[in-house]
Amino acid sequence: MSVLVYVENAEGKFKKSTFEVVSYAKAVAGLLNTDLIAISIGDVKQDELSTLGKYGASKVLDVKSDKLKTFVIQAYATVIAEAANKEGSDVLVLANSFSGKGLAPRIAVKLQAGLADSAVEVPKIENGSFMIKKTAFSGKAFASVELNSAKKVIALNPNSYQLTESAGEVKIEDYQPEIKESDLRITVIEVVRATDKIALPDAELVVSAGRGLKGSENWSIIEELADALGAATACSKPVSDAGWRPHEEHVGQTGIAVSPNLYIAVGISGAIQHLAGVSSSKTIVVINKDPEAPFFKVADYGIVGDAFEVVPKLTEAIKAYKSHS
Ligand code: FAD
Repeated sequence: MSVLVYVENAEGKFKKSTFEVVSYAKAVAGLLNTDLIAISIGDVKQDELSTLGKYGASKVLDVKSDKLKTFVIQAYATVIAEAANKEGSDVLVLANSFSGKGLAPRIAVKLQAGLADSAVEVPKIENGSFMIKKTAFSGKAFASVELNSAKKVIALNPNSYQLTESAGEVKIEDYQPEIKESDLRITVIEVVRATDKIALPDAELVVSAGRGLKGSENWSIIEELADALGAATACSKPVSDAGWRPHEEHVGQTGIAVSPNLYIAVGISGAIQHLAGVSSSKTIVVINKDPEAPFFKVADYGIVGDAFEVVPKLTEAIKAYKSHS
């Protein structure tokens, strides 16, 4: 018995979100009193792989194959499921990321495992039951689910678990699974980045704005605030519908769901469809000139004021603070 964690890389490097997933998987392994094994697929150098030991992995299965250089979902799912069988892993952990959302159900079917996606906490064992807390209804609610299958798949929501270092040696093992042609029916030819900025789902800090900004020509104040903080930018749906901002910035029920440590909402009313994608943010700051705006009900900090006056002042204050610290 062991816990297996799938570690995603971006161009050969692990992001902080990967180390969060490994830290979480180590806590699950601790709960079950067993070892944590990681599986990495792709061209990741030995030095990078060995950083996984710092977060609790005792062994890394290193899969390097020309056929798996880009993300091929069926083949990745087969490789990970077969690794779980080979290692006798009863629990598989992965990120509830874009690729994790596709992989988790496929792997669960292959392993005949129960699946908890959007997990937000380490499971609890209560009277022999394996209980796990997850978000439900696009983040509007929490559900506590019991996984009573022998094998279990857990997909962890981004920013849900803190990095936890644990000393220990890591062994890196070359793993060459058989890759079936039937799993290579879809191949990725090219990946073109939409932007070089911080990807919204991975962002720890997000500055988001809505129709209160009046038009695309006013977005420089949002970008300046985001730059001062090192944050990603986001927007409400009507803003991207109007073409003021690109669609990949649209958050909410019909857009991207984010759960950053800080979400600053500027000139956004706080409609339920918007809140569905942002309410699991750790700290919410709302800037709105209407004291009755519904967003204030879920805000940790609220500023009632005109965005065009408040935001530049906030940016200046952050720059001044950073220049002294
Ligand atoms: P508004 O509702 O127009 O609010 C603008 C806010 O700006 C107001 O609160 C106003 O007081 C404030 N304001 C105005 N001027 C200033 C100023 N100078 N300074 C400070 N504040 C100011 N919406 C989403 O965002 N994401 C979704 O995924 C989404 N999915 C949807 C799905 C469905 C099926 C439906 C029906 C709707 C969906 N919507 C979604 C739309 C949603 O219902 C709201 O209409 C939308 O979120 C409102 O956007 P907004 O807050 O930017 O604009």
